[in-house]
Amino acid sequence: MEAYDIIIIGAGAAGLIAAVHGSECGLNVAVFEKMSSPGRKLLITGKGRCNITNSAEIKEFMTEVYPDGRFLYPAFKSFFSSDILSLLEDCGVETMLERGGRYFPKSEKASDIVDALYKRALDNGAKFFFNTTVNSVIYENDAVSGIEYAENGRTKVAKSAKVIICTGGKSYPGTGSTGDGYRLAEAAGHRIEKLFPALVPLVAKENYGEQMQGLTLKNINATLFVNGKKITEEFGDLMFAHYGLSGPVILTISRRVVIALEEKSGVSISVDFKPALDFEKLDARLLRDFNEHGKMKVGNLFKLWLPQKAIPVFLNELGLDEEKPAHQISGKERKAIVSKLKNLSFTITGHRGFKEAVITAGGVALDEINPKTMESKLKTGLYFAGEVINLDANTGGYNLQIAFSTGWLASEL
Ligand SMILES: Cc1cc2nc3c(=O)[nH]c(=O)nc-3n(C[C@H](O)[C@H](O)[C@H](O)COP(=O)(O)OP(=O)(O)OC[C@H]3O[C@@H](n4cnc5c(N)ncnc54)[C@H](O)[C@@H]3O)c2cc1C
Repeated sequence: MEAYDIIIIGAGAAGLIAAVHGSECGLNVAVFEKMSSPGRKLLITGKGRCNITNSAEIKEFMTEVYPDGRFLYPAFKSFFSSDILSLLEDCGVETMLERGGRYFPKSEKASDIVDALYKRALDNGAKFFFNTTVNSVIYENDAVSGIEYAENGRTKVAKSAKVIICTGGKSYPGTGSTGDGYRLAEAAGHRIEKLFPALVPLVAKENYGEQMQGLTLKNINATLFVNGKKITEEFGDLMFAHYGLSGPVILTISRRVVIALEEKSGVSISVDFKPALDFEKLDARLLRDFNEHGKMKVGNLFKLWLPQKAIPVFLNELGLDEEKPAHQISGKERKAIVSKLKNLSFTITGHRGFKEAVITAGGVALDEINPKTMESKLKTGLYFAGEVINLDANTGGYNLQIAFSTGWLASEL
C-alpha cells in the first residue's frame, strides 16, 4: 500500500502551495485531485489574469477578511504577499502591481501561476494523482492514518499520518470545488458554519438590467439599503446583466445582501451615476446644458450625461418624451432628472447562487482549528487550508493569499 509523509486533498491554490512547501521540506508528498489537471479554479481567477495577492500590510489585510481576519495572523506571519511574489519570481513569473494594491502576473495569464507552482512541486518530488476523488479520511484512535479514494471506479487506500484538506468551497462547482471538504470535516466531528455564496452577482426586480445588459459603468457609487436604512456604499465599477447587477462594487456589497435576503429583509441598491457632483452642482450643469442646447431633442440631450443604453431607461422612468425640445422641460422636470441620475434604485430579490459566486462564505469552524498550525483540534494529523475554512474576503487578491498562507503553514514540518 502507498504511504506518504503528507497527503494533500485537492490541487487548487492551497493544495499546490502545500505541495511546494511540504516537498521542499524534504517530505514525501502526495496530492490527490479529482479533476484531470491542477488549479482549475486558479485558471479562471481575475478573469484569467489571476489577482495573486494584495500589497496591503498584515493589519489592513486582516480587516478585509470575514468573519475574523485575526485568525490568520500566524499564517500571514509564516507566508505573506511578499513570500508568494518572491516564490513566483524564483519560478520565473514576473508580477506587476495595479490600482488597489492588486498584484497580477506580468503575462496576465493565470495559467503561468498554475504552471509555476505545479512544476515547482513536481521538481521538489511531490507526486500528483489526478482523476482521484477522496471519499474519506481514515482514523485510528482519533489520529489520521490515511485516506480512501476512488480511481477508475475502484476504491483504494493511501497511508499517511498527516492529511491536509484543501478541497476549496462549493462555488463554481465545474472547477471541482463541490463542497467535499465540508463532508470530510463533518465526518471528523467538525462544525461547519453556515455556507452561503459571497462575492455574487445580484438579481433585481426591475428589468433595467435587461435593457442595459452588457453596459459597464465606471466610477459610480452604489448604496445598499436594508429595510430602508443605509448600510454601506461602494465606489467603483458596476455591470448590468440580464438578471440585474454585477461588477466589483456589487460583488463587494453582495455579502451583506445575501445575509439580509436570508433574514427576509427588504433590500435595495441605489446607483448614483454622477457621484462627482452633488445635487446642486449637477442641477447647475444640467441647467447650463438646457440653456446651451434649447433646440435639441431631450433624447439627444441625455447623450451628454449618460451612455446610450441607459437613456431609454431614464426617459421611461421619468415619463419624458424623447422628441420633446429641451427648452420645453420645466424646472420641476429638470430636478426630477437630477434626482434620477443621483438615484436609480434597484429592488434586490435574489442572487446568482454558488454557481456564480466567487467565494463560499462559512466553512470549518475557526475555534476547532489551531491557527498556529492549521491542525484540527479534534483529530491528530488532520489539517485544513484554503476556502474550506470559515474564512472569506473581499476582492483584491485577498482570497488567494488566504489559500497560499494557510496551505504553506499547514505543510510546515
Ligand atoms: C471566477 C472566480 C474568480 C476569482 N478570482 C480571484 C482573484 O483574482 N483573486 C483571488 O484572490 N481570489 C479569486 N477567486 C477566489 C479563489 O479562486 C479561491 O479563493 C481559491 O481558489 C481557493 O483555493 P483553494 O485551494 O482553497 O480551493 P480551489 O482552488 O477551489 O481548489 C480545490 C481543489 O480541490 C479539488 N477537490 C475537491 N474535492 C476533492 C476530493 N474529494 N478529492 C480530490 N480533490 C478534490 C478540486 O477539484 C479543486 O481542484 C476567484 C474565484 C472565482 C470563482
